[in-house]
Amino acid sequence: AAKQTGEPFRRWSLALDERTSQYAELGAQMRAGLDSGQFRVVYQPIVAVPDLRVVAVEALVRWEHPERGPISPVEFIPVAEQNGLIFELGEWILATACRQLAEWRTELGAPAPDRMSVNASARQLARPGFAKTVARTLAAAKLPADCLTIEMTETAVFQGGQAITTLHELRALGVLIALDDFGTGHSSLGLLQTVPVDILKVDKSFVDNITETGRHTVIARSLIQISEGLGLTAVAEGVETAEQAEALQQLGYRFLQGYYFGKPSTHPDFTLALDWAS
Ligand code: C2E
Ligand code: CA
Ligand code: CA
Ligand code: CA
Repeated sequence: AAKQTGEPFRRWSLALDERTSQYAELGAQMRAGLDSGQFRVVYQPIVAVPDLRVVAVEALVRWEHPERGPISPVEFIPVAEQNGLIFELGEWILATACRQLAEWRTELGAPAPDRMSVNASARQLARPGFAKTVARTLAAAKLPADCLTIEMTETAVFQGGQAITTLHELRALGVLIALDDFGTGHSSLGLLQTVPVDILKVDKSFVDNITETGRHTVIARSLIQISEGLGLTAVAEGVETAEQAEALQQLGYRFLQGYYFGKPSTHPDFTLALDWAS
């Protein structure tokens, strides 16, 4: 290959340096943020249709940076994965979410959601001992394992054999596994033959134009058919309107999640079923 010199390369490498140092800075600030309580966890309802019972909530992490304000997890999770802070942050999110569900169960009784869904990054799943950490965390919160769902993306499975082993260990505990952003990846369908999965989270991109006829409806229908054929549960993500909810229900979706039913919040509304009925 030609020797990489000259202006374009220099610019590219400067941009890279800049990026690397921004990463390092954000990483250092995350460390401080973890120690000083700048992170919190919010919860978004997952509802069953047609009765709109909140059957589960998904835990989503938030970072309120003292100078920059809120930073999206889309920005800081990759940094945490890169610098290894994801292990500590991930354990904190898991423990916080489990404690929160236990608290709702005690305080609210029946209206509390049955399950807590927690996102795990590829690196967490690829590290031996993750299932043990999960078991310990559930025990500390006095929660049965069947209250927990771990959400992962297909990239987790490309990390090698340990991630698959972890999934089997989690399942042996009684934890459910959800495949996130289903339909967007490179090999989602192939994965289903080899990876233990219980729930498919159908990506928002297939929900967005569902009310128009054509391609999107075809794909959303195929995804629910695959899910049913394999005996899995499908959850449609990113439902923003009544029309989308209606169309998804027509296609056979029984579990929906999105702003239409509730944005992620520290105090999600578990009484949707009652509110809608009245
Ligand atoms: P995700 O796991 O696919 O989470 C769904 C994202 O869609 C969340 O964004 C949620 O707030 C957003 N969302 C939900 N309903 C709607 C809707 O109706 N319309 C629109 N436009 N958006 C909706 P968020 O919280 O910003 O998280 C983004 C991503 O960051 C997550 O995607 C996940 O990949 C990652 N993430 C968030 N929290 C965690 C965490 O605790 N651990 C890990 N490892 N990753 C996390
Ligand atoms: Ca998720
Ligand atoms: Ca998703
Ligand atoms: Ca996503």
